[in-house]
Amino acid sequence: MTSAVMPTYARAPVAFVSGEGCRLVDTEGRRYLDFGAGIAVCGLGHAHPKLVAALTEQAGRLWHTSNLYQIEGQEKVAAKLAALSFGDVVFFGNSGAEANECAIKLARKYHSSAGRPERWRILAFEGSFHGRTLATLAAAGNPKNLEDFGPVVPGFDHAPYGDLDRAEALVGPDTAAILVEPIQGEGGIRVPDPEFLKGLRALADRLGVLLMFDEVQCGLGRTGRLFAHERIGVVPDVMSLAKTLGGGLPVAACVATSKAASGMTAGSHASTFGGNLLAMAVAAAVLDIIAEPAFLASVARKGEKLAAGLDGLVARHRHVFESRRGVGLMLGLRCAAPQAEVVERLRSAGLLVVPAQDQVVRLLPPLIVDEQEIDEALLILESVARAMPAKAA
Ligand SMILES: *Cc1c(COP(=O)(O)O)cnc(C)c1O
Repeated sequence: MTSAVMPTYARAPVAFVSGEGCRLVDTEGRRYLDFGAGIAVCGLGHAHPKLVAALTEQAGRLWHTSNLYQIEGQEKVAAKLAALSFGDVVFFGNSGAEANECAIKLARKYHSSAGRPERWRILAFEGSFHGRTLATLAAAGNPKNLEDFGPVVPGFDHAPYGDLDRAEALVGPDTAAILVEPIQGEGGIRVPDPEFLKGLRALADRLGVLLMFDEVQCGLGRTGRLFAHERIGVVPDVMSLAKTLGGGLPVAACVATSKAASGMTAGSHASTFGGNLLAMAVAAAVLDIIAEPAFLASVARKGEKLAAGLDGLVARHRHVFESRRGVGLMLGLRCAAPQAEVVERLRSAGLLVVPAQDQVVRLLPPLIVDEQEIDEALLILESVARAMPAKAA
């Protein structure tokens, strides 16, 4: 079949027509257990009644006015995010890449407007993912994604993820900020030693550079804490959020201390759609639910249950799964068998998971997943692992 859609994605041959909670239904009426959640986007599952109500209520009133005017919803969501985090101020965009783009610009402006324009470089890390704009691609530095797109946006240095010594060696008098995922998602659910992030904080403080956490994937409840950095008690100066923030509606946020954002004034940055009324209505509803301590505790508890089940699976089927990684409901299995085949077999058996780099399949169920659904997913994993040939195909 020919398609008029630009062929930039390698899509699985399945399309979904409806969803509820952790379930999706395809065009053939087949039901799936969704442990991908649209790549950690549908944190509250599909068709959550409170999100549907918030969206439809706002949809009947007003969608968009523009940032030429006051937007009450932005005030509300920004105040909520500030109250829930280290941050004082928030810029709203529509995607993770845009949140990071704002962070990068903010860091350069922070130094430039304080009379240090020579501080404009950003230290980032190998194996990262920060989005697909030219600057965020340069930030991640993945050669595969940069190839064929002309000169790479200058100003990004890269250290191996977890390597504090290399990071120290690369931060110099021209460094504006350090940008890092507290847990790498696309890179393969890589959880660094807490000392790494603590060391980056100390390094940033010592040299007067900003520490910026990309929590687009690991933030907003995924780890069982509202923000992944809370787990290790390292507080950044800037944080980017997206994915779960809109529960499926495009919305992103760059959260910063007022000091870090001190260069950002009227005209510094803008987005036509960023923070529109629909997005803000939904983001407010999402935050109301996931910021509840009892909700976050349930994520942590369910994450432990799923992780324990996966550990047993790995122990029984070493020819398929080599190891288990991750925290909370941000978990990964490193495949010993071909990753694409594992993903496909699971999908055929009714379980959706998401591939990542480093031969990892990610399990990122909606945060509202229940214990029976976890058991069901583990049963599917078990039966698929048992059916996998002993030798890689
Ligand atoms: C998904 C992701 C992004 C990019 O988000 P988009 O909405 O696709 O632009 C950036 N950083 C991290 C850590 C991500 O997981």
